[in-house]
Amino acid sequence: MNYILRVPLTLPFLLLLAASASGAADTGLQRLGPREFGKLANDERSANSAVFVGRAAALVVDPGLTPGIAQAFLHEVRAKIGAVPIKYVVLTHWHPDHALGILCTAGSELQIIAHPFTDRQLLQRAGAIIADFSKNPAHTVEQKAFAACHPRFPDHLIQDTENIDLGGFTVRVFHPGHAHTAGDLVVWAERDRVLASGDVFMHAASPYMGEADPYAWVGVLDSLLALHPKRVVAGHFGLSTGADLVRFRDYMGSLVTQVSAGLAAGRALDEVAASLDMHAFADFAQYPQYNATFAGNGRDVGRALIDAQHEFALLARLKVGKNPHQISFSADAKTAYVAAAGSDRVTRVDVATRTVIGHLSTPGVPLGVIPLEDGKSLAVTRFQGDTVMRYRLADGRPQGQLTTGGGPSLIQGPFTGNRYLISAEKANKLWLFNATSFAMDGEYDTGKRPFPAAATSDGKRAFVPNYDDGSVTVIDLLSHRVVATVAVGKHPSGGAVLPGDALYAVAVRGENRIALMDTASATLVGEVRQGIGQSPFSVVLATDGKRAFVNNTASNDVSVIDLTQRKVITRIGVGETPIVMAVHPDGKSLWVSCEGSHELDILRIPQTIR
Ligand SMILES: [Zn+2]
Ligand SMILES: [Zn+2]
Repeated sequence: MNYILRVPLTLPFLLLLAASASGAADTGLQRLGPREFGKLANDERSANSAVFVGRAAALVVDPGLTPGIAQAFLHEVRAKIGAVPIKYVVLTHWHPDHALGILCTAGSELQIIAHPFTDRQLLQRAGAIIADFSKNPAHTVEQKAFAACHPRFPDHLIQDTENIDLGGFTVRVFHPGHAHTAGDLVVWAERDRVLASGDVFMHAASPYMGEADPYAWVGVLDSLLALHPKRVVAGHFGLSTGADLVRFRDYMGSLVTQVSAGLAAGRALDEVAASLDMHAFADFAQYPQYNATFAGNGRDVGRALIDAQHEFALLARLKVGKNPHQISFSADAKTAYVAAAGSDRVTRVDVATRTVIGHLSTPGVPLGVIPLEDGKSLAVTRFQGDTVMRYRLADGRPQGQLTTGGGPSLIQGPFTGNRYLISAEKANKLWLFNATSFAMDGEYDTGKRPFPAAATSDGKRAFVPNYDDGSVTVIDLLSHRVVATVAVGKHPSGGAVLPGDALYAVAVRGENRIALMDTASATLVGEVRQGIGQSPFSVVLATDGKRAFVNNTASNDVSVIDLTQRKVITRIGVGETPIVMAVHPDGKSLWVSCEGSHELDILRIPQTIR
C-alpha cells in the first residue's frame, strides 16, 4: 500500500480502507434482478463489479485491479451462469482499480468496451502502472502476473451510447457526461431497472474528484435518477438502491450550493470548504489520504467554480444565416436579433437555450437591427436600400421607412432620449435616429465613407471614423457643428466612448492598433497596440466598465483589454471574420457575428479579471 502511494500514476484512484470498515460484507455475487448480479470488491484496493446475463451472452463490468482479482471474478461468474459465455467487458473509466486486471488477462473471446478517453488514458498510462506493480512487494502473489502481462487494450469504443443485445435482453452502455472522469460509461438494464455506475456514484462516501467536472456531475446524477433505477452497483462500497443514489446526488448538490454561496459572499475558499454543513451526510465515509472528504470535495468544487469564472469559453456557435452583422437584444433581454445581411433576413435567437427560433424577411442587405420601444417592431437598416425600415415582429410586414442615403450600416446607441446614430457609408452622412418617434432628429456631414459612430453618454458629442480618409469627425450633436476632424491612421473602422466619457477608443484597422482620443479636446492621447490582432474592426465595452473587446477580422479573434491598465489581457479565438459584437445586458456573454464563417459565436465572459 505504501509503495502504491509513492507512485504518482496510481495515486488518484485507490480507496484502500473500505473493506476493513465494512467488515463482514458478503463479497460473493449477489442477485440484483432476474438477469443481474453485483459483487462487492473483496480486496480493499479494488472496485465493485457487475454482471448482466442474457440468453446468448453475458456482459461484465469493471473486473478489478489485478489479474488475479479479474480471473477469480470471471470464474465466479461462469460458475453462476453456466453455459452462457461472457462476451463483453465494460470499463466504466480508466482508473486501475476498475480496469487494470482485465487488460492482463482477457482472452480473444472477450470484447473490451470503453469510452475513447478511457482508451487513450490506458494506452498512455497502463504500461507504466503494470511495470510498477510487477516490482511491487505488496503484490507478492501478483508480481509474476504483472511481470508477464502484455496488456490488451479496449477493442470497442463507445463515445455516446450503444445498445448491446445479450439475447432476448438488451442493455444500454452510455456516456452520461463528464462526472468522475471525462470518459465515464454506465450500463443500464431498462427492463429490470438495474444500473452499474462506476465511480460516478459512491455508496455513502465522499468521492475522489481530482479529474471531475463538479458542475456536470450533479446534472449527470440527475439524468441517472431520471431513469428510476431500483438497484445500483456503485463504484465502491455497498450495493445500492435508487434511494442511495438520491442521497449521493443530494450530497453533490449540497456541495455545489454551499460552496457557490460562500464564494459569492466573498469568503475565502479554504474557510468555505472547512465550514460546510454536512450533518445530513454524517455517515459518509471520508478518505483524507485521497482528498475524498467534505472539505476536500468542497475545495475541488470551489476551484472549478473559480476557474470557470476566469475563463472565456465558447458557449454556442449558431447558424444564423449568411454574413451576420448587428446583434441586439429585446427589452427583456430574452431574445436576440441578428441581421443576416447575406440572407436578407433578421434571425431571432432564444437567449436562454441559445437556439434559433425564427426569422423575418428583410430584403436589401440588412446590416443593422434594433428592437423599437413598443416591443412589437424592429428598425432595420438596408445597406442596398438607402433606408431604415420598420418591420412588425408579429407578421414581418413593413410599417414605415426613413431615407438615409446610400449605405446605412449599424444602429449605434441608445443615447439619451432613446436616440441612435446611423452612418450612411456611401452618402458621407451621420443620422441621429429617434427610435421613439421613428424619425430623424438630425443630419450631419462626415468625411469619406463613415463607419459606425459612437457618442458620449449624454448624447452631446459624436465620433465618426471615416474609413477612407483615415480620420475621425467629432460632431457636437446639439449645435450641429463639426468640432474637429482628427487624423488617426489608416482605415479607422469603429470605436467606443469609454466609461466616464473622457476617452474615445477607435480601432485603426489598417495599422493593427487602437487609438485613444481625449473627448473634450479632440486630441490623440495614446494607443493600445500590444496584443491587438490583425485588422481590428470595432471596440465594445463589457458591462463591468473595466474591460473592452476588440474583434480582429483577419486573425479571427477577440482581444480583451483591461481598461484600467490599458493592456490586452487575453485573446480568444472565434469564427472567421468577426465583424460585429454585442454584450448581453446581463454582462455574462459576448456575442460575435462571424461574417466569413456565417456563424454567431456566443462566448462566456468571466465575471472576475485575473
Ligand atoms: Zn475512479
Ligand atoms: Zn474506483
